[in-house]
Amino acid sequence: MNGNAIVVGGGIIGTACAHYLSRAGWKVTILDKGGFGQGCSHGNCGFVCPSHVLPLAMPGAVGMALRSLFQKNSPFYIKPRFDPALWGWLFRFLRRCNRDDMLRAGQAIQALLASSRRLYDELMQTEALQCEWQTRGMLFIFRDPAHMEHYAATDDLLRERFGLASRRLDGGELVNLEPSLKPGLAGAWHYADDAHLRPDRLLASWRQALESRSVEVREHCAVQSFIRDGKRARGVRTTAGEMTAEAVVVATGAWTPFLDKELGCKVRIQPGKGYSITMARPSICPAIPLIFEEDRVAVTPMDTGYRLGSTMEFAGYDATLNRARLDILRHAAPLYLREPFGEPVTEEWLGWRPMTASGLPIIDRSPLMENVFIAAGHNMLGVAMAPATGKLVAELLSGATPHVDAAGYRLR
Ligand SMILES: Cc1cc2nc3c(=O)[nH]c(=O)nc-3n(C[C@H](O)[C@H](O)[C@H](O)COP(=O)(O)OP(=O)(O)OC[C@H]3O[C@@H](n4cnc5c(N)ncnc54)[C@H](O)[C@@H]3O)c2cc1C
Repeated sequence: MNGNAIVVGGGIIGTACAHYLSRAGWKVTILDKGGFGQGCSHGNCGFVCPSHVLPLAMPGAVGMALRSLFQKNSPFYIKPRFDPALWGWLFRFLRRCNRDDMLRAGQAIQALLASSRRLYDELMQTEALQCEWQTRGMLFIFRDPAHMEHYAATDDLLRERFGLASRRLDGGELVNLEPSLKPGLAGAWHYADDAHLRPDRLLASWRQALESRSVEVREHCAVQSFIRDGKRARGVRTTAGEMTAEAVVVATGAWTPFLDKELGCKVRIQPGKGYSITMARPSICPAIPLIFEEDRVAVTPMDTGYRLGSTMEFAGYDATLNRARLDILRHAAPLYLREPFGEPVTEEWLGWRPMTASGLPIIDRSPLMENVFIAAGHNMLGVAMAPATGKLVAELLSGATPHVDAAGYRLR
């Protein structure tokens, strides 16, 4: 039997850490400064996508980053302002926009994605999670034949370097497979191993499963500092008082840099704001999740709804729901779909993705306290990487052999 563990942050990463810690015999308490599951894990697109191995920092991304300084309505937007942390982050990001760094990051991303995909299959069996889990793959769709041809090189790279299988579909074949799409599109690639789920349902159902195994969830309880005892933490100080623990996991997503001083390191995460619109299913609803590659918009068909999601805005911790950016989603969908909207709209949402310059999450010990682990910075893939992250954290804290090589996720 291990001791008490506190998991700070009730998002998908904290939940997965709590799950595997509890399975390893820890008595776990999850603390969240707000409501459980109300951060970035709430309204995202729910893709569990081993196909997404490539980080954002890749050759060609430099041009995209520079253009985004001037185009308010591009899906990728950097709000020009004086912010040394943002400029330092961008500098690191731009330095990594080369093939070698991209491939190296891709390998470490793939380890977590592939393991998580397998673990989700297991979790759906063992925990019977009610989250509208579907394994229909994913379509990367193109309007323009030239862009489609250009992507063929990326698909070759994914196949040759990462062993990812796909099927190329030209216009007619695409509409046969997914009749919700308009005729006349250039085509698509189908990545059959991808899956999807409804993230808010996943969190609600996983919470129930955890609570039935005596994991405690405390909401509206913000962690402010650690109670230190030499090279270890004895617990945490929160807005609701002190709590003791033998181990602490910091899974605070985009907010993690606010704990830098306490953790004794610089956690270089920037909030990457994204939006989604959730509505009722249109009568001609896609069956397969879609990504409109040229417009950077994603579509998630769910049993109980339908979601458009996208955009990446580096605007600091600005919680404004910007109508112009939501409209990017509304404008793209009719270009591809026979029936792009359902009625009524049930939610318009924004979330801050925890973005690192490398595209890799940080899964590492605090340099000040050997029993405090950071598990944050999962970029655009927190749902897709959560189970393997949770398992790895539990292995590292319990002294078990890690099932993936942890070296790629170190702070430095
Ligand atoms: C539009 C959009 C679409 C996306 N689509 C996908 C997708 O299809 N697939 C995918 O894998 N990922 C997707 N993502 C990314 C994914 O949502 C994130 O990577 C993931 O939610 C991060 O999870 P997290 O647990 O680290 O952070 P969060 O879910 O943000 O959780 C962090 C929690 O920590 C709490 N917290 C912070 N500080 C403290 C403190 N001091 N004390 C106590 N609690 C604290 C917060 O309240 C919050 O609840 C998408 C994101 C967006 C915005």
